[in-house]
Amino acid sequence: MTPLPFNFERLSSNKVFISNIGGFSNIIDSDDLVPLIESPSDLEYTKRHELQQQNFITTSDDYKLSITTIASAFAKRLTAEIQFNPVFMVVPTLRCDHTCKYCQVARAPIEQTQYDLKESDLALIVQRILVLGKAPYCIEIQGGEPLIRFDLIQKLYDLCESELIEFKFVIASSLSLLTNDILNWAKSRNVDFSMSLDGLKEAHDANRILASDSSYHRAIQGALAVKSTLGLERLGVVTTITKDSLKSYEELVKSHLDLGITSFFIRPLSPYGFAGKKEMGSYELTDYFIFYRNFLKRLKELWLIGHLVSEHSIGVHIKRLISPTFNSYADLKSPSGFGLNAILFNYDGRIFGSDEARMLQRLHPEIDFSLGDLSDNTLNISAITKSIVDGGINYNKPGCVDCAFQPFCGADPLQNISLFGESIGHKAHSPFCEYHKGMFRIALEYLYGSPEDKSFILDVAQ
Ligand code: SF4
Repeated sequence: MTPLPFNFERLSSNKVFISNIGGFSNIIDSDDLVPLIESPSDLEYTKRHELQQQNFITTSDDYKLSITTIASAFAKRLTAEIQFNPVFMVVPTLRCDHTCKYCQVARAPIEQTQYDLKESDLALIVQRILVLGKAPYCIEIQGGEPLIRFDLIQKLYDLCESELIEFKFVIASSLSLLTNDILNWAKSRNVDFSMSLDGLKEAHDANRILASDSSYHRAIQGALAVKSTLGLERLGVVTTITKDSLKSYEELVKSHLDLGITSFFIRPLSPYGFAGKKEMGSYELTDYFIFYRNFLKRLKELWLIGHLVSEHSIGVHIKRLISPTFNSYADLKSPSGFGLNAILFNYDGRIFGSDEARMLQRLHPEIDFSLGDLSDNTLNISAITKSIVDGGINYNKPGCVDCAFQPFCGADPLQNISLFGESIGHKAHSPFCEYHKGMFRIALEYLYGSPEDKSFILDVAQ
């Protein structure tokens, strides 16, 4: 018996997670790690058989076949991950009524109309979507606060209706400017809303600053209005954990459940753009993971008494680990989702390969991160674009080549540019790496914990 190349990660229990580049993975006892490398024939029969099936070990007769199987599994994953299936994001305005402390795009003041999309660009955007995508198209309206230019959203919808036929709109908004007229318009159309909720009032208002009112009150009023007019299934809720929301996982859970929301999407502060400069460093990811583990424990208490809840972030990590075909989360794929999973049409007519690219553009106006312009039909394949695409591949990068999570993880070349000045970065100092490694470890603890833990986390991942 001969071992084949694999990577390993010791877990906190007496277990070791192993994987190979074909995407096969397993958990072995720590005591089996050295025999797996030095004398695989000594492994217990059932485990040895399982590891042989997954091409961690092979016989000399089957050596070439095993190598071919790993290569073929790798090629299959790669083929699936390079599929072009973007969400089309449109920014009708960069203006915003909020002045959030961690604003990632450096919003523009509400009176500065030069930060609005030109109405004549709407038709060009729809034409580009038609050429680039395929039905059913997913169109996400971003800001600023996009409802400031609700008129543009309506016009875009009408154009999509006549040109694209099968499509869905998601409006990402603070809901502070939501009115009955907007809801009534949305009611008969394929329009959902996505809002942010960082916890109860104190945590939410600490960072989301609205001069005229409490941002939390407006968000709750808006959520209740969406709930009664459209139904909760048409409202997505995203939570950014700030230093203030770190204080209480119980409040965060309560803030959602009070509204009847049972789907969570929890994420740490992003080190991008303007938010990165001002707010990163306000807490360590180790603090985040203490918070997140307690948060999952609270969800488990609720699950044990029959409340079904889901959490998107742990969900995507679980799905990557157990489902070789899951590759729709832009951060967790290699090549990364830049330009493959997202195309963003900015208010100024420029086109970006991701939301993060337009954030970096605001921070570094001297560099052109765009893929082109609505006024020009050519694709801008600049040196920086090439470097972003190369940095988006993880299986040949220092740190990732030795990492057991590599087949399931992704890469964030834009975060690397933001933090390290180049697209590859240093994994030992990368918040992207620390975050995803931490999430994979938590996912594995539950997946390979007690049967109760496993069923809980699989339910949460739904
Ligand atoms: S980014 Fe970090 S966790 Fe992800 S594959 Fe690379 S080394 Fe592993």
